[in-house]
Amino acid sequence: MLAIPYLDRLGKPLTIRFRCLEDHDHRAAFHGKYNTVKDDPPRMYGVADVHQAGDTIDVTEGELDRIVLKKIGLHTVGLPGASLWQPRHRRMLAGFNRVRVWGDPDDAGSEFTARICRALRSARGMRLRDADVSDTYMQGGAQPLLELIKETEQ
Ligand SMILES: [Zn+2]
Repeated sequence: MLAIPYLDRLGKPLTIRFRCLEDHDHRAAFHGKYNTVKDDPPRMYGVADVHQAGDTIDVTEGELDRIVLKKIGLHTVGLPGASLWQPRHRRMLAGFNRVRVWGDPDDAGSEFTARICRALRSARGMRLRDADVSDTYMQGGAQPLLELIKETEQ
């Protein structure tokens, strides 16, 4: 499995999540696609960016999408899904003037975006049309992602 370390703002590990990279039925193999340390509280991935960002921060659905936005130069945190959004996450993002939310273009992604936009007046959903952040990047590089930001800010 891919090990995904969650680091604090000084780079110290808080927890590790695991993603199975096999293309198979995870349930039949007695694990989930993602696997978390038992009883670990929901956390923001890449929380150091909350401290490094200016007035704008990006929020992705999932860790790997966060890695992509970080790679193209955006301060970004990731959350593994709408159900893991916590009141304390709202407090962590409440100081930003602009919060861009990158839910996947599916029902779970819509719920993810809606939940954060309900909690934060500064939040805007980014309308990914056919693919999530990672797939959009794989298909067209940074450009379609940066264009979507421009469109949304007009
Ligand atoms: Zn598996």
